[in-house]
Amino acid sequence: MGRDLGPDCRLCRREGEKLFLKGARCYTHKCAVARREYAPGQHGAKKTKLSNFGIQLREKQKVKRIYGVLERQFRNYFINAASTKGVTGTILLQQLERRLDSVIFNLGFAKSRKDARQVVGHNHVSVNGRRVNIPSYLVKPNDVLEIKTDAKTLNTIKANVEITKERKVPTWLEVDTANCKAKVVRMPLREDISYSVNEQLIVELYSR
Ligand code: SF4
Repeated sequence: MGRDLGPDCRLCRREGEKLFLKGARCYTHKCAVARREYAPGQHGAKKTKLSNFGIQLREKQKVKRIYGVLERQFRNYFINAASTKGVTGTILLQQLERRLDSVIFNLGFAKSRKDARQVVGHNHVSVNGRRVNIPSYLVKPNDVLEIKTDAKTLNTIKANVEITKERKVPTWLEVDTANCKAKVVRMPLREDISYSVNEQLIVELYSR
């Protein structure tokens, strides 16, 4: 599986906002966006006016980076969304939210989506009683998720729940943190997306 190996904080600084890619550090004064409010690189501090294309591109890059997916996979999500009945932008975000790694993150079992990808990839998650180690697996209503692992990893996951308890679990998920179990109650709605995004810009970018 391909992934972006560069420094996470650099990605946030490029987008000019916190993307919460690093877990606990993101909530402290050590956050790079809070300390250096300009883009990375030699000319990062220079203010430039973005074209329409630039604005659309930045919005797409932001969402791609939040979920840690690469261009081809992101485009496939868009193609899928465009061919599904409904509002393309909303369906695109809905698919990304339904990814198993994103769900594990939203449940608080991992400090960041990157951590969540590891939890899934290392075979610690079961869906409806079956082990699933594919981070891009899309959950659906009535799926029952459970962390099934050794005592040591379970302790780490419970510690993550403690660290992330300030974060609200979206209402489309029902969580039983004591037993590290969860249920998908319904499909995620547009209002369940917890970060600010203008998905229409992404649709316009890909429709060029
Ligand atoms: Fe982004 Fe977190 Fe780094 Fe801040 S600490 S820049 S939110 S990854």
